[in-house]
Amino acid sequence: MIEFIDIRKIYHQGEHKIVALDGVNLHVKAGEIFGVLGQSGAGKSTLIRCVNQLEKPSSGYVRVNGQEITSLSGVALRQARQRIGMIFQHFNLLSCRTVAENIAFPLEVIGYSKLRRKAKVEELLALVGLEGKANAYPAQLSGGQKQRVGIARALAGEPNVLLSDEATSALDPQTTRSILELLRDLNQRMGLTILLITHEMGVVKQICDSVAILHAGKVVEQGSVSDLASQP
Ligand code: ADP
Ligand code: ADP
Repeated sequence: MIEFIDIRKIYHQGEHKIVALDGVNLHVKAGEIFGVLGQSGAGKSTLIRCVNQLEKPSSGYVRVNGQEITSLSGVALRQARQRIGMIFQHFNLLSCRTVAENIAFPLEVIGYSKLRRKAKVEELLALVGLEGKANAYPAQLSGGQKQRVGIARALAGEPNVLLSDEATSALDPQTTRSILELLRDLNQRMGLTILLITHEMGVVKQICDSVAILHAGKVVEQGSVSDLASQP
C-alpha cells in the first residue's frame, strides 16, 4: 500500500548538510494503522511528507497504491494525491471560511458541482459527528471539533490513505482519545489505511497495529504494536 524504498533526504542550509532521512525502508500494509514514533528532529515529518510529495526525497522512492509517486508530476501527481488525505497538528483550516466551505474546498478544486458539494459536505459532517456545524467558523469550534473538520476535509476526495501529522498533539488527553477513536472507526468502517506520526507512545498503543521507531533519520526498531508492548 505504502512502500518507502531506501529513502534519503538531505537538506542544505548554507554550507551545512542536514541528513533528515538516512536510508528508510518501510512497508505499510493496506488497511492497517501504522505509527512512526520518534523524538523531535527524528525525521518523522519529512518522511510522511514524502508520501504525498510535499517533500521530495533526495534519493530512493515511495510507492503508494502500487504507483511510484516519486516519479509523478502535474496532473498525474494531482490525481494520485486525491487518494491521499492529510491531517495536521494545527488543523490548517481557513479561518475566514465556514466549516462547510473548508470541507468543500478540495471538491471545488476537482470540479464537483455545487449540489454535489453540498451533499458530500453533509455526508462528511455526519461521518465525523459534526452535524449542524456547517455554517460555523473555525474560531467558534473547540480543538477537537476543528480536527474533526480537518478529518472531513481530508476525506472529501475519498482517499484510501490518510496521513496524520501529529494530529492530536495540540489536544487534551480526553479529546485525543475521542479523535483516535474516530480514526480507528474510519479505519475499520472504510478500510482506510492510516499512516501517522507522533512523539507519544500512548497514541501508538491506543490505535496502531504496527510501529516503526525513527531516530536520527533511521528506523531503529519496527514491528507489531502487540510485540512491542510485550517487551520488558
Ligand atoms: P520530526 O518531524 O521528527 O521533528 P523533521 O522531519 O521535521 O523531524 O526534521 C528532521 C531534520 O531535518 C531536523 O534536523 C530538522 O531540523 C531538519 N529539517 C526539516 N525541514 C527542514 C528544512 N526545510 N530545511 C532544513 N532542515 C530541515
Ligand atoms: P459559493 O461560495 O460557491 O457561492 P457557498 O458559500 O454557498 O458557495 O458554499 C461554499 C461551499 O460550501 C459549497 O460547496 C456548498 O455546497 C457548501 N455549503 C455551504 N453551506 C452548506 C451547508 N449548510 N451544508 C452543506 N454544505 C454547505
